[in-house]
Amino acid sequence: MPKLAIDGGTPVRAGMLPYGRQAVDQEDIEAVVDVLRSDWLTTGPKVAEFETAWSRTTGARHTISVSSGTAALHAAAFGAGIGRGDEVIVPALTFAASANCVLYQGGKPVFVDVQADTLNVDPAAVEAAITHRTRAIVAVDYAGQPADLDELRAISKRHGLWLIEDAAHAVGATYKGRAIGSVSDLTTFSTHPVKHVTTGEGGMITTADDTVAQRLRWFRNHGITTDHRQRAEKGGWFYEMVELGYNYRLPDINCALGLSQLRKLEPWLARRRAVAACYDAAFARLPAVRPLAVHPDREPAWHIYPILLDLEGLGQGRAQVFAALRAENIGVNVHYIPIYWHPYYQELAYPRGLCPVAERSYERLITLPLFASMTDQDVNDVVAAVTKVVEAYSA
Ligand SMILES: *Cc1c(COP(=O)(O)O)cnc(C)c1O
Repeated sequence: MPKLAIDGGTPVRAGMLPYGRQAVDQEDIEAVVDVLRSDWLTTGPKVAEFETAWSRTTGARHTISVSSGTAALHAAAFGAGIGRGDEVIVPALTFAASANCVLYQGGKPVFVDVQADTLNVDPAAVEAAITHRTRAIVAVDYAGQPADLDELRAISKRHGLWLIEDAAHAVGATYKGRAIGSVSDLTTFSTHPVKHVTTGEGGMITTADDTVAQRLRWFRNHGITTDHRQRAEKGGWFYEMVELGYNYRLPDINCALGLSQLRKLEPWLARRRAVAACYDAAFARLPAVRPLAVHPDREPAWHIYPILLDLEGLGQGRAQVFAALRAENIGVNVHYIPIYWHPYYQELAYPRGLCPVAERSYERLITLPLFASMTDQDVNDVVAAVTKVVEAYSA
């Protein structure tokens, strides 16, 4: 059996393979340079063009671009009318921003558990957590697989709640044939460089609700309305601030990059799905490695490829396996630490043990590299390193 790199052996590959990275080509660069030479650096024609393209991709009626995925979640919480004392149900196993957006609005995140096989939020746990103060549900499409949206929509309708979908992992995914972005009341996306398409920093909100869409356009621009008729009547300087908004605008420079990137989404999704299929096939032979279950009625976008380790079978902690894979130059990561384990949330007195499936899953999770520009050699290296490490510890 080959000696592990962590024990002084030769690593599977010479250079570190990151868990995710952007692909920027000459076309992207030229698109950005064109904007730099134009009259508009921030809010210009590229904003509406990018939003229209995003609506086409996601089947949405409206897309509102903002400066990050976190700003998109904040806008969604605002759009859902979350205010002081309102409870919002959030899965425990996600990025902190999925819950922070509730705090921004003065609301209270109520953490619920995920399902052991998909790590998506458990609809039964959601229903059990509803009180007379509940106003919304945040569903996260974990790893890019859509959550149980029909069940969650039925619950949200029955109780008069907003369904906010954090689809930061899931642009291009489909649920029962419908594109993600066209299913929930409000869907948020991120265009951070580790996500499917990038604008540097950026985020999008999609909705079918005309009134909310208008309020979100105000929200991202200080709550200012720009009504041309009012200007004509009262003077060219006139504007009114009608909501407490923010400067969450996404500049034209970034939108031009996003437009150019979005044209490549289909081949990139195909590549991500092909890499995930290679991993699935390879790990079916390793009993100590369990990939996520995928429902046949939805097609994931595969933002990340997490595996769950059988730590008892390996006789090792996750930290040891993680360090061994890093030593082989595989840039593994972990998604996610349960949100309420973070010190800030511990201060808010969420008890440990609140969401046992999320907590247990976290202890055995490792995210493997997955991005569209991975070569076949990169994929083989990941499979070889996981096999090497797992077999060494299983022996
Ligand atoms: C990336 C991400 C966000 C935040 O997006 P930013 O653009 O980095 O602000 C929110 N939720 C989830 C699940 C994410 O993965």
